[in-house]
Amino acid sequence: MQIDTLGCDGGIGGTRRTTCYRVDQTILIDAGTGLLDLPLEALEKIDHIFLTHSHFDHILGLPLLLDSVYKNRQTPVTVHALPETIAILQSHIFNWKIWPDFSLIPRADQGALRFQPLRMGKSVSIDDWVISPLPVNHVIPAIGYALVSPQGALAISGDTTSCEAFWNHLNRLSRLDYLIVEASFPNDAQDLAKISKHFCPSLLQADLKLLNHRPAIFISHLKPGFEDAIMAELQAQCAGMGFTLQALQRQHRFKLA
Ligand SMILES: [Zn+2]
Ligand SMILES: [Zn+2]
Repeated sequence: MQIDTLGCDGGIGGTRRTTCYRVDQTILIDAGTGLLDLPLEALEKIDHIFLTHSHFDHILGLPLLLDSVYKNRQTPVTVHALPETIAILQSHIFNWKIWPDFSLIPRADQGALRFQPLRMGKSVSIDDWVISPLPVNHVIPAIGYALVSPQGALAISGDTTSCEAFWNHLNRLSRLDYLIVEASFPNDAQDLAKISKHFCPSLLQADLKLLNHRPAIFISHLKPGFEDAIMAELQAQCAGMGFTLQALQRQHRFKLA
């Protein structure tokens, strides 16, 4: 039971990659630029993709993935997402203008893509994982995910700003070993964080007071060039709260054992 960080940055440049996590061999959470580093054989093994929302940095690998793998796959790739996210992808990506509708390719009765709508309160079981959507607060409909296995639990916020319901859902889990939560901007960009509905350190510190668990916390979606400033502010503001807190690095592997 492992989760590989293929991408966790708030932008690109050098070794930065945008959001994509691989759960064991066959499941992805988001499909940002981190996906593009996988070899073709690994891409062909992806059966399920759970999307947090439709923003470009989280989905851009999906159209390219489908085009690269459909020839050697017997079954469609299932994309799990909110109904609103699915509607946006159908209207704005898989519309034959930006990219073909891969639910009809290679054949109308045998598409390479299958959408599976998610709803809050309903979990999806795959292998030994139970994957549940978590409420978050972003500028468009968005969710985070709790990934629970018999060996432990990890939660991913995706993109969000302050959201009491998110922490309430986490508190209902029987355990939480790891939390990946975003902090996109430094405190001097708090106005931008609020407008774009992301966390900055002061907003995240206030929300962390709502969390009853004491997981190892990994910070994601740091905007390029501001990584050190954001982490220094967070470490200072969260000192004494009892958390271990670090910037998530690409290729970090979470093992639940
Ligand atoms: Zn977003
Ligand atoms: Zn994002």
